[in-house]
Amino acid sequence: MRIVALLKREYESWDAPAKRFEGAYRRTPFTIMVSVLLSFRTKDEVTLEAGKRLFALADTPYKMVNLDRVRIEEAIYPVGFYRRKAAAILEASSYIIENFGGEVPGSEEELLKIKGIGPKAAHIILESAFGEKTVAVDTHLHRILNMWGFIETSTPEESLEALKKRLTPEEQAGLNRLLVSFAQVICRPARPLCGECPVACCCPASRR
Ligand code: SF4
Repeated sequence: MRIVALLKREYESWDAPAKRFEGAYRRTPFTIMVSVLLSFRTKDEVTLEAGKRLFALADTPYKMVNLDRVRIEEAIYPVGFYRRKAAAILEASSYIIENFGGEVPGSEEELLKIKGIGPKAAHIILESAFGEKTVAVDTHLHRILNMWGFIETSTPEESLEALKKRLTPEEQAGLNRLLVSFAQVICRPARPLCGECPVACCCPASRR
């Protein structure tokens, strides 16, 4: 995709919240999985700070299950649904200990058995924690790729299936991080900055 190649050239210059997770805390499959659980309907900036507070207390499933649920709630507040997420983090930690010896599983099939982990979350974990060349599709990727006419789908789930057919694993790798960052700094859902957009020339929705 030429448009993606153009964006990759600009990526380094963006100060996007999605890029700030690297190095923010000890990145392990477990902290990445918990971070994904925290991120649902929550801005990356808020998810990041909540993760830092929580992982300072517990960054393994064994340490996590020793925390009181209220302590987790206090650490992750103000992420959205923080009470439900605290319970989900405890449940997922127990499940991993009981079923996988305390290690986050590295297959989509097993990840989907963990309560709270859906296809998008599983693909983020597979790519970020296990280095798989795959793509996680959230509302940003679904919106942008349909807007460009690269795919024609109605839901993120359909977009995932379409992208798996159209893109090689190498082309899928990194696409989520690239387009989420792009959506945070330029192609924002409500007010896209088309005047600053490096791919306005190729975009059918350009407001330039
Ligand atoms: S031209 Fe505007 S709508 Fe199109 S990708 Fe760029 S920012 Fe988004």
